[in-house]
Parts: sequence; C-alpha cells; structure tokens
Amino acid sequence: MDVRTGTDYDAVVIGAGHNGLVCAAYLARHGVRTLLVEARADVGGTATSESFAGATVNICNCDHLTFRTTPIADELGLTAHGLCYVDIEPAQLNGHWDSDGYWSLHHDVDETLESLAGSVPGDVDGYRRFARDAVPVARLVTEAANNPPTRGSLLAHTARRGGRGVATMLRWSRRSALEVLRSYFDDERVYGPALVEGPVVWGLSPDTPGTGLAAIAFALRHVTPVGRPIGGSGALPRALLSAFLASGGEVRLSTRVTSIDCIGDTVRSVTTSDGTVIKAGIVVSACDPRRTFVEWLANPPSGAASLVAKWASMVHQGGYESKMDVVLDAAPLLAGVPGTPASTIVISPTVDEMRRGADGLADGYVMERPAMLANFPAYADPGLAPAGRHILSLEALYTPYALPGGWPGSELPDRWMSRLAGRMQPGFLESVVAQRTVTPDLYESEFHLPMGHATSFPGGPLSAFMGLDRELSRYETPVRGLFLTGAATFPGAGVWGASGRNAALTVIRRL
Ligand SMILES: Cc1cc2nc3c(=O)[nH]c(=O)nc-3n(C[C@H](O)[C@H](O)[C@H](O)COP(=O)(O)OP(=O)(O)OC[C@H]3O[C@@H](n4cnc5c(N)ncnc54)[C@H](O)[C@@H]3O)c2cc1C
Repeated sequence: MDVRTGTDYDAVVIGAGHNGLVCAAYLARHGVRTLLVEARADVGGTATSESFAGATVNICNCDHLTFRTTPIADELGLTAHGLCYVDIEPAQLNGHWDSDGYWSLHHDVDETLESLAGSVPGDVDGYRRFARDAVPVARLVTEAANNPPTRGSLLAHTARRGGRGVATMLRWSRRSALEVLRSYFDDERVYGPALVEGPVVWGLSPDTPGTGLAAIAFALRHVTPVGRPIGGSGALPRALLSAFLASGGEVRLSTRVTSIDCIGDTVRSVTTSDGTVIKAGIVVSACDPRRTFVEWLANPPSGAASLVAKWASMVHQGGYESKMDVVLDAAPLLAGVPGTPASTIVISPTVDEMRRGADGLADGYVMERPAMLANFPAYADPGLAPAGRHILSLEALYTPYALPGGWPGSELPDRWMSRLAGRMQPGFLESVVAQRTVTPDLYESEFHLPMGHATSFPGGPLSAFMGLDRELSRYETPVRGLFLTGAATFPGAGVWGASGRNAALTVIRRL
C-alpha cells in the first residue's frame, strides 16, 4: 500500500478483454499505477486465441478492421511488442443460400464493381452510388470514434471533413439497415451479406429501426484493409499486455472481481473472489455494465440510485451466436471458386429467414439455413495449424441462448457442417479431424458474458455525441472514480479498442 495515498494502486481495471488492456496500457503509460484484474487464466476475452487439437483457434471470427482505423498500435508501439498484421484481399466473399456463386468485396471500390459486373450486373450502379455515399460516413464514424465524444468534437470533425457524410449519417441513423440497403440494391445476393454483418451479428432483425448505420459494413472495407494478426487474433491482446507490463503495469489473472466498494460518493476498492480487498481511487470496469452496477456495486451513493435502478430494470438480451473451430487434414476448397480461399466467406439467408430467426430467438428457434461467416485462417497464416492440417472457423447466427433441450449434445453443429459441405468440394466432411462449438451457454460460463450475450453500444454516434446514456457514451458514472469501458460503451462491439482508449483519456483528463 502507498502510505501517502492509502491505496494499493491508483487505478484498477476490471477485465482484460482488448478494451480493458488498451485502457490499462494507456493509464500505465501515463504514469498511473495500474492493476489489471482478469477472471480468466489468459488475457484477451473474446478477442483471444487458444489451442485446440494442436491448432491455434480464435474465439471471434476474426477479421480485424476497426482496430486498424485507430492510432493505438502506433501510440503504444505494438509492433515492437510483436503485433504484425497480414492483409486479407479480397476483403470478403459474399454468397447467398439461394445461389451457388460469390461476388468479392475488395479494398478497392473499382475491383468490387468489376466483381459485381460479373455476377450481379444489375446492382453495379447501385453499388457505385452506395460507395459514394457510404465511404464518407465510414470515414466520419471511424475518425469520430478516436476521441471521447462531445457535442463540440462532433462539430469539429464535421468541420474538418467539410461536412462530408454528416447528412447521410444522420439520415441513416434513424432508419433500419434493410431500408438503407434497399434504397441502393435490388438483389438480396448483394444486400443479404451486408445485413449479416450489420444487424444480424448484433442479434437484431434487419428491420430494427436505428440500425441503418450498419449499412457501412461494406464501406469500412474500402476505408481500411481487413487484417489478421500473425499468430491469431490473440496476438493483439498479447502485444497490448506486453506494452502494459513494459510501462510498469501489473496484472492478476484467474482473479474474479466480486464487488466494487464505495465510501460516500467515491469508489474506494474492489474485492476479489478470494476475499482480497484492493484499494484504488479509480476503478474502470471493462465488463458488462449491468453486472457492474447491479451485481458488483456495493453501498452505491444516493446519486447513483437511479442509474442502478435503470440497469436493474433492463431486460438482458440472451446470446445469439455460436462459433465452430474445426481441424482438417486436407486443404478446404470451395465448390466453383478457383484458388485457396483466405477471405471470410459470408453466406446469407433470405431476409424473411432473418426476420424469423431474430423473432424466434426468445423461443429457442434455430433457422434451417443460418447466416454463416466462414474462413480458413491457416491459408493466410500457416503457422496456426500443425503441418499438413487446416482450420475452419465457422460462425453461425442466430443461435439462441435457451435452446430447447440445451446445447450440450445438440446435433445442430453437425447440421451446419453438412450445410457448409454442400458449398465445398467433395471430401470436406471426411477431412475433419476434430471439431468443437462455442455456444451461448459457453460464452457465459467460459467468457463471463451474461447469458452468452456479446454486448454492443446500443446507441449510434448521434446519441453518443448528444451524451445520451452518459455512462456508456462518456465512460463516467455518478460514482466518483468509477469509469466504464468495453464493447457496451461507444463506439461498440468489434475488435476496435477505441472505447478503451477513450475511457483512458477520460480518466487521465479527470486526474
Ligand atoms: C463469435 C464471435 C465472433 C466475432 N467476430 C469478430 C470479428 O470477426 N471481428 C471483430 O472485430 N469482432 C468480432 N467479434 C466481437 C469482438 O470479439 C468483441 O466485441 C470484443 O472482443 C469485445 O471486447 P471487450 O474487451 O469489450 O470485452 P470482452 O472481450 O468480453 O472482455 C471482457 C473481459 O472481462 C473479464 N471479466 C468478466 N467478468 C470479470 C470479473 N468479475 N472479474 C475480472 N474479469 C472479468 C472477461 O473474462 C473478459 O476477459 C466477435 C464476437 C464473437 C462472440
């Protein structure tokens, strides 16, 4: 304990997901004595990688896009800490269950138009119009995410960009992703995969009002190349941990925080599951906000009562996605596509199927033809698989938390593999050496996601800049010294890191 301040650390960060790591690394670099506390035995949360059947597999899908629009890698010198990206080109192959072919989305807009001209010529003009409108919005959103949002910062960004993208951003923010995309495209083979990456990967129906900005998913790939860290997604959290430790930070793994303790209106300490009390004047929770306010906050001050009541009354959404890791003993090849597919392959169901899938989540319904995001990571990074082997990473949506009969022993993963085999060259299923499936119940028990739900900031950029839900958009809470970061805060889910950096900048400003 520091006898001058009476604390063990200046700051405790709860949760070493990539956002907690980013936040902790910035604090330590600023000279703040920081302890990072993580419940799991390893850092990285859902952005980590782990060993399975001799291969290295990622917990998330895992194409890194938004992280590469931030200054974090440069500012924290992550290359020197082992981070190295391989670019993935084409950025993505887009398919639909009702058709055999794919069109390729490239970093370059013209190459994308060429691919569309060969497969869905009727939507080439629509895509040109879409790119003209959406790319400035994608640039505006990613640039604006690189600072803690305030009304003033939005005006400054808008002025700096000469107003480009602002009117579109505001218009799209109010609409559904389906409405926005249908105003450009006629063919579901084009907008179906965009919906999969928009509302579907957030567990929402394509008709959900306010999801219109999800339409920028394709445009983001024109703003920055898709990348994968060499060594798997987990190479990013490992590099962040190394940067944090090099700045004098300390980490405690396999240590679960059970309460955040206050004295008066100020945070005083956290208590861990073994009863240890760690005193600190600043606590940053990089975990689920509901757990933070409702389950962990002990004797909250009266000023926080309405916030605690608000989170206590919220219905918690259940998980909606599952991911398979499969080790193969032969090179996987797509039917009808020449070459070795390194890019993520998106296979979209129809819009009606998506609606039914989203609506049925609460009743445990699973679509016959789920939305799929598949890739074979060892094509781009051969070191991930043992010699002579390959890996399939397969994300399936929507998959409910409460599956009738439960997930253990479910035959659904085998069904998804058979569906995918229909798009692969013969011999694919016979090449399977080992497979596992991480389902919502496991995201809950292994990754501490309540009900297996991977959270995301619920508002759009506009609500963030207006300061709605201040604990999520400003990272501060009515409890003095208690801050929030993570995917539930602005700018939201994905391996992005902007929330971790913004929260750290907010804390440093307060200091
Ligand atoms: C199947 C799937 C596929 C995805 N694919 C992609 C993709 O391709 N590209 C992309 O950009 N994003 C993808 N994502 C999203 C992305 O992985 C997440 O949004 C992001 O990793 C969340 O990071 P985080 O740091 O905010 O939270 P988390 O990663 O959830 O980290 C929170 C940490 O807090 C810890 N914790 C919880 N409770 C406690 C406690 N009581 N005490 C101490 N520690 C605690 C947890 O163990 C965890 O390590 C995917 C997500 C999933 C689930």
